Amino acid sequence: MYLKTLQLHQFRNYRDCLVNFDAPKTILVGNNAQGKSNLLEAVELLSTLKSHRSNRDRELVLDDTKIGQIKANLERVNGSVDLGLILRSQGRRTVILNQEPLRRQLDFLGILNAVQFSSLDLELVRGAPEYRRNWLDSILTQLEPIYAYILQQYNQVLRQRNALLKTFRKQELEGNINELSSKDHQTELALWDAQLATTGSRVTRRRARLLARLAPLAQGWHASISGKTEVLEVTYAPNVIIEKDNPEQVQQAFLDKIQQRRIPENRQGTSLVGPHRDEVEFTINNTPARSYGSQGQQRTLVLALKLAELKLIEEVVGEPPLLLLDDVLAELDLNRQNQLLEAIQDRFQTLITTTHLGAFDSQWLNSSQILTVKAGE
Ligand code: ATP
Ligand code: MG
Repeated sequence: MYLKTLQLHQFRNYRDCLVNFDAPKTILVGNNAQGKSNLLEAVELLSTLKSHRSNRDRELVLDDTKIGQIKANLERVNGSVDLGLILRSQGRRTVILNQEPLRRQLDFLGILNAVQFSSLDLELVRGAPEYRRNWLDSILTQLEPIYAYILQQYNQVLRQRNALLKTFRKQELEGNINELSSKDHQTELALWDAQLATTGSRVTRRRARLLARLAPLAQGWHASISGKTEVLEVTYAPNVIIEKDNPEQVQQAFLDKIQQRRIPENRQGTSLVGPHRDEVEFTINNTPARSYGSQGQQRTLVLALKLAELKLIEEVVGEPPLLLLDDVLAELDLNRQNQLLEAIQDRFQTLITTTHLGAFDSQWLNSSQILTVKAGE
């Protein structure tokens, strides 16, 4: 797919800005705090309706204004699409597809596919498990937009179940429990157990399927970048272990584990079972990558993961997604820059931000459109 134009109105530090992309690679160059990442963020929002930097629309709208807008024209294999997103400092968003406001945000997802790679992504290796879960979730949302809805349902169940466990724990500590209220609690909890098992197993099964496809791709890329000296293993470590991708069996595994964890759950007043406790493990030559000393090796790993993501989305969607590189290219040595260049060629439209062009190989510079970003222009 190819992003032809991007138009920003009162978005972040842009008052009005129109960008025409006229090469497969665009380098956005400028000093710090000029608006380079803001521009990538606008593309990210059109892709997932989420920003990894903010979840408050008030922050996305230009200071002292009320309404911001992002518009884009995207060329896909089966035709051209106009995308629009209206953000309000107070109130709900409007999503617009081909000039028509959509009733369901779900219908907007999965149209503009993009893989984002920023220096923050090193957290995928070094950071808390939440980063890795969010990573899986953002890929799944692009591959099957219904996943956004499934995850939302799961989180709702989790919140309500946690609230119930917490209330009960409080009553227990205060000595306000009698046989009747305890029975009521058990009945109510059983309903939420079932809901957690139904919605949680949907999440777990999808994450397992995703990793089964992603892991070999990442392994292949990693071998090629590291010169075949290292073997990467990417393993899904779900909180509820599943043996077969069978809805009934997975739900039963959830219920069994909930039963086992009943006492600690009641004592801690929170849900201890479910995909909110999943983990993804990376090992290089059988050693956990997190404890691997070299930054370079961790960068290679993240690059391999991102390339795997790119190829998987291409396979599933049937056309190449966009690649958004925020501040990472200059951090890669020339060998890795070249590996990346070879992998994307001119098939993946790529937007790259940098503070200086000096670190780029001439091959990159010669094949790119170069735009200077200064104070939101
Ligand atoms: P760096 O090289 O440091 O990453 P950058 O060019 O990527 O810089 P951005 O993150 O795109 O910088 O932009 C940051 C600028 O945008 C800051 O000056 C910030 O104050 C400004 N900014 C962010 N949100 C808003 C907003 N809602 N209204 C006005 N300005 C904003
Ligand atoms: Mg930036």
